[in-house]
Amino acid sequence: MKFVDEFRNPTLGRALAGEILSLVEPGRHYKLMEVCGGHTHAIYKYGVDDLLPANVELVHGPGCPVCVIPMGRVDDAVAIARQPGVIFTCFGDMLRVPGSDHCLLEAKAAGADVRMVYSPLDALRIAKDNPDREVVFLAIGFETTAPSTALTLKRARAEMVHNFSCLCNHVTIVPPLRALLESPDLRLDGFIGPGHVATIVGARPFQFIADDYAKPVVIAGFEPLDILAAIVMILGQIGDGRSEVENQYRRVVPDEGNLRALEVMAEVFTLRPHFEWRGLGFISHSGLRLSDAYADLDAERRFDVPGVRVADPKACQCGEVLKGVIKPWECKVFGSACTPERPIGTCMVSSEGACAAYYNYGRFAREREVL
Ligand code: SF4
Repeated sequence: MKFVDEFRNPTLGRALAGEILSLVEPGRHYKLMEVCGGHTHAIYKYGVDDLLPANVELVHGPGCPVCVIPMGRVDDAVAIARQPGVIFTCFGDMLRVPGSDHCLLEAKAAGADVRMVYSPLDALRIAKDNPDREVVFLAIGFETTAPSTALTLKRARAEMVHNFSCLCNHVTIVPPLRALLESPDLRLDGFIGPGHVATIVGARPFQFIADDYAKPVVIAGFEPLDILAAIVMILGQIGDGRSEVENQYRRVVPDEGNLRALEVMAEVFTLRPHFEWRGLGFISHSGLRLSDAYADLDAERRFDVPGVRVADPKACQCGEVLKGVIKPWECKVFGSACTPERPIGTCMVSSEGACAAYYNYGRFAREREVL
């Protein structure tokens, strides 16, 4: 496939692996975080991890949008879905995210009208087709997906679709990264930057990582050679004693981001003072809600929701996985009580979740020798 096969070329991949080997100092351990769940998935799908020397360790970050949704927000969604006359719409991944009692799929099995959609525009179409029903869209995701929600809300307003509303769970990437960098139990040497989010926000928002924390950041694409090239660039910075934000994904990511998308987001959303992240707790100014100008389309204001904080199950170690403190197979219930068929935590649900990636690609333990 043109423009894809080139980025999966095994000869070039082995050449980049050789370059990585030449850049590492034996005896030194390098811990690099890939922020985005899409990178985690690609790393294990293509065996990128197997091409790295044992002293280059990849740890997985908080960039999976489904994984970071706390149980209380799922409970809010289920409460709305159960209300008479409501058609509740969401992406497929969200159907099986556990709430404190039930997930949306169980609510659907018990009679709630819960429907899977592929985009917020699908949900708006359902609203137009069912003018006598209230249609709610469960919006999740980082800055990558927030613009499509914003544009859909603008269209709903323009087309005067009054039976449509949005339960907004959009989050922003910079505050959790800052929280991670402030965490005393995590030592990182560099970041593989989130290519999808950067498509919208650009490269500049990550500059604080280089300036304030002296860590290299390389924004990367999602093919195996993108990731290997980004690791070469990070190790090159470390070797030179530099800490900069570099953009490996220039074919998609402009340094200034997508200005039109940012403008639409600024019109439709406003920052919440606090938002709870699964396993990470409350992080200031990290979540989005609908701005006052769009308050009439805000499902949280249109419906009663419990809005209660619910503690994660005791066995669940998603928080440690999302912070890169443990590997998925180190969680006590990984692959036994927690599987993709019967997940306990969110990281096992989403295709971008680290636990699902490890499980699906057979990574049940790390067996690499240290140099
Ligand atoms: S195995 Fe399950 S419970 Fe453990 S961290 Fe992963 S998703 Fe969470």
